[in-house]
Amino acid sequence: MLFAVISDVHSNFDALDAVLKDIGRKKIIDIFFLGDSVGYGPDPNECVEMLSETCQILLAGNHDWGVLGLTNISYFNEYARFTIEWTRKVLTEKNKNMLESFPLKKEFNDMLFVHSTPKEPEEWHYLFTLWDAEINFRYFDNKLCFLGHSHQPFIIERVPSGELVTYRGKTRMKDGSRYIVNAGSVGQPRDGDPRACYVIVEDKDIQINRVPYDIETVQNKMRKKNLPDLLVERLSEGR
Ligand code: ZN
Repeated sequence: MLFAVISDVHSNFDALDAVLKDIGRKKIIDIFFLGDSVGYGPDPNECVEMLSETCQILLAGNHDWGVLGLTNISYFNEYARFTIEWTRKVLTEKNKNMLESFPLKKEFNDMLFVHSTPKEPEEWHYLFTLWDAEINFRYFDNKLCFLGHSHQPFIIERVPSGELVTYRGKTRMKDGSRYIVNAGSVGQPRDGDPRACYVIVEDKDIQINRVPYDIETVQNKMRKKNLPDLLVERLSEGR
């Protein structure tokens, strides 16, 4: 078993490119993507196209659905809403159709892939606390669940007795335990580390990986396209 899980690219092509190159250097072929191709960043078309060409599983997230008009965008903050409306204008019809074909969750080989949470994926809940995890472990029975959405990577293990254990970097899977893994965000990390984030699974090892990329280039593209300053600045702060 060897594969990569990536999530929340958010139109940041330079971060995506750096992550895909890192995955390529590690000779990993299978890449599973958990949604939010677009929103926030300057290169929505390039990201949708590159993801479609390279990933075996492709999911949709709340920003993708926002752009497609499939979810109410009034609950997004003003910056997210601004870029969703901007993305609607620049995304090609072909790429909109592509995004529209991505489901919200997918099961494969005793694994569940979802953008938000196993419980009511279309409601875009966040999984922040151990209590959130406890609830969500009841909504799937696979050994592994990969999700994104909060842009904060973690691994939570549920041991057979029911106890939950959190890992920030890596862990080795145990028989009988089940796992929820947040793959973090390729294009807009929010855990204080601005490097692009993704997950590698190799046999029993689950590992959160960080990849540096040229943040300044992305920030310059965003300024040229008049995207909000706050979104430009947060990239270098990883928040
Ligand atoms: Zn996101």
